[in-house]
Amino acid sequence: MRPEILFPLFADISVLKGIGSKTVKLLQNLLGGSKIVDLAFHLPAGIVDRSYRPRLKDAVPGRICTVRVKVVEHIAPKTRQQPYRVVVSDGSEDLTLVFFKVYADSIAKNLPVGAVRIVSGKLESFNGMLQMAHPDYIVPEAESDKIPAFEPVYPLTAGISNKMLNKYAEQALARVPALPEWLDAAFVKQHGWDDFRTALLKAHHPHYQQDLEPYAKERARLAYDELLANQLTLAIARERVKKQNGRIIRGNGLLRKKILEKLPFALTSAQKNVLAEIYADQAEPLRMLRLLQGDVGSGKTIVAFLAMLNAVESGLQAAIMAPTEILAKQHFETIAPMCEDIGITAALLTGKTKGKARAEILSRLAEGSINILIGTHALFQEDVSYHELGFVVVDEQHRFGVHQRLKLSEKGNKADVLVMTATPIPRTLVLTSYGDMEYSKIDQVPEGRKPVDTRVLPLSKLTETVAALKRKIESGTRAYWVCPLVEESEKSDLAAAEARFEDLRKIFGNDVGLVHGKMKEKDKDAVMERFKRGEIKLLVATTVIEVGVNVPEATIMVIEHAERFGLAQLHQLRGRVKRGFEAATCLLLYGQPLSETAHERLNIMKQTEDGFLIAEKDLELRGGGEILGTRQSGFCQFRLADMEYHKNLLFIANQDAKLILNKDPNLQSPRGQALRILLYLFEQDDGVRTYKA
Ligand code: ADP
Ligand code: MG
Repeated sequence: MRPEILFPLFADISVLKGIGSKTVKLLQNLLGGSKIVDLAFHLPAGIVDRSYRPRLKDAVPGRICTVRVKVVEHIAPKTRQQPYRVVVSDGSEDLTLVFFKVYADSIAKNLPVGAVRIVSGKLESFNGMLQMAHPDYIVPEAESDKIPAFEPVYPLTAGISNKMLNKYAEQALARVPALPEWLDAAFVKQHGWDDFRTALLKAHHPHYQQDLEPYAKERARLAYDELLANQLTLAIARERVKKQNGRIIRGNGLLRKKILEKLPFALTSAQKNVLAEIYADQAEPLRMLRLLQGDVGSGKTIVAFLAMLNAVESGLQAAIMAPTEILAKQHFETIAPMCEDIGITAALLTGKTKGKARAEILSRLAEGSINILIGTHALFQEDVSYHELGFVVVDEQHRFGVHQRLKLSEKGNKADVLVMTATPIPRTLVLTSYGDMEYSKIDQVPEGRKPVDTRVLPLSKLTETVAALKRKIESGTRAYWVCPLVEESEKSDLAAAEARFEDLRKIFGNDVGLVHGKMKEKDKDAVMERFKRGEIKLLVATTVIEVGVNVPEATIMVIEHAERFGLAQLHQLRGRVKRGFEAATCLLLYGQPLSETAHERLNIMKQTEDGFLIAEKDLELRGGGEILGTRQSGFCQFRLADMEYHKNLLFIANQDAKLILNKDPNLQSPRGQALRILLYLFEQDDGVRTYKA
């Protein structure tokens, strides 16, 4: 499958000289892979400039310098603690080379008195004398070209020295083939870029500090290549979905009219706009695959329901899939009464639906007397067959990757798919992770919502906080208490939550419950259920409550060690208490010392409730590297591109990918062929697989 021209790049690094099995392991950890290409994409982070060649008399101590010297004398150490010293001179001044714990024999051999040598290393001043400890290079004059004027410094790991990595990188680069140009010639010229191979070689051989900057020409070219590979793959996936025939969903509007008349509120204009986009998609004879983003409480459920009704009006069935039992049940409780009101039928199908009840639902589903099915992934098990499924809503599935989405839409034969997420996702991430989907956004919450009173307090105020909480709970309020996230291990997360639970139990007795990620789904749901019913009034939790549970009576959120959470997470957590119409409170308790970014994060939380703004800030503060926490997978990570600096290139790549597929949908032209190589180079094989040569 992979084009032959790329074979050398995808050979294992163990083929290189000097790499044994131990080194392979170390490198694999460092590079995230063990192919030649992984070494080639591991770019230097620094530079050693050996081009400074002063006369010793004028040399500035503290700098790396390279000098031509004659060996004057050896001073052997008198005690074991003393170093071995060799005095050399360039005629203008003496320099002492200092060696600790080195065999005298080898020094004598390398630096015989009277010989001329080129030495390079860090020059220091010691008691008014120039000295150089363990020079990086000592070579005879004839071999002076062995000393590079500029030496790249690579990100390293224990057990791999910079010298080693330089050697490996050089060997890897020697194997990089010249590849046909996949970028538009005029575009390359306009930016003054080199071809891929030249850019890669230059990126490994920086001469100046600015060569290391993300906007350096070489790095920009490489970043663009990576972004284009990403955008092209997503564009291909999108085309693939669109090509499958869909259904025309265009109902008569009667059911929707009835519902809108019964709603106790009017739709916001954001909801109306989004619905118009969805209806337009549904009316097309193509498959719909659309992402609907809307902050917690922005009213996505009613939008999804109206879109489902459009399908029902057209004589089709609709389904909504939630990530957990409890959320599925929640949707059912909202949607089923509305269905009843307008004379259609909804049913709930989860892993818990068993035996006769399940059999009955399945048979009614197959004959078409269930209009809307609500559930978990149980909705798409083998033995579940629909009469005529036309529309699928996937709720809160931000952890799904593009390939999983493709699979899902394959299951619901021809069905249109709407994916809803409450995680505000910055635009760059939408492009890189959801670029295969159309995109709608509810950017407004219904009027009349009271803002959450967000307070930032040091943990030293814990006792007062608990006392205030006790008064609130005695007067009937329910509250969440979220425990610190300890990055290193889930075990210590849990220990902390359990300890806090025990503490709080001494004060709140049976009013307090505990829920954490290590519990079985069933037990988790049971505790949540008790909290919903009010049998538990204070719920101690690790971040498992992050994914939307609706308990309108819960209006207080305490987050312990809030400084350890990411912004997006804090926002999601705070959203949990915005469900009711009572004014809510969010207490962010922080431990000290508070880092500058942590301080800023907490401040942003105090200043705004706008999820989109928070998401942008989050990305800014994290520097684009780690996105929404590494615990949430499904987001694309780049090796050469950096979203903090290469945003503009992403937008261009997005347009470029569309143009490419417009002009050459099967990647047949010479440029198209080259682009296939690009996709393989960045291991976007899934994308290319559509096009068998
Ligand atoms: P989310 O986007 O978090 O899923 P929901 O759909 O659960 O939000 O809506 C939150 C609450 O807001 C629900 O009680 C819903 O009935 C209500 N709601 C939805 N749209 C509006 C609106 N336009 N005006 C007032 N309330 C609304
Ligand atoms: Mg929701």
